Amino acid sequence: MYNLLCPRMILNSLHDLEYHQLKELGIEGIIFDLDNTIIPWDQQQMSPEIIEWVNALLKEGFKICLLSNNMGKRVKDIAEIFNVPFVSRAYKPAKSGFRHAIAAMELSQDRVAVIGDQLFTDILGGNRIGLVTIWVRPLSSQEFIGTKITRRLERLAVRVLKSKGLINKSAIIKNNNY
Ligand SMILES: [Mg+2]
Repeated sequence: MYNLLCPRMILNSLHDLEYHQLKELGIEGIIFDLDNTIIPWDQQQMSPEIIEWVNALLKEGFKICLLSNNMGKRVKDIAEIFNVPFVSRAYKPAKSGFRHAIAAMELSQDRVAVIGDQLFTDILGGNRIGLVTIWVRPLSSQEFIGTKITRRLERLAVRVLKSKGLINKSAIIKNNNY
């Protein structure tokens, strides 16, 4: 169970992602969570830096799909900026949304990574179907009330993962292979 909550990499910021490392792992497609991963939860606009960063990934040849538990329009509007597929109302950590996202990129699951800010949705769901999971610090401290509650459990889970040696402090600062 704890292994399923353990991210493969941990990033302070999306900009810390070393995509050459993903290529070495054979990753060709990336599933992105939306809220507090590429756009602050309480905002309508992405920052120009993140737009530029996502476009750079596309230019590098990565396929991208958005996967969000949020409603359709918000997800669709962001997907249209990049002309990438999306899955909304995904009920992460359910596997089905991840499977749809993988199919939308026309890749096999061993070629796909997922990046998200929540252990119990993005990381747990990705690990359940064997993706490379990348946990990134949330963009904003503003969150949906349900998420605020989950964060307490998340902090508890991180303490347990650390005590079992599955996560260490240096991994939080710099991405790491386990
Ligand atoms: Mg999120």
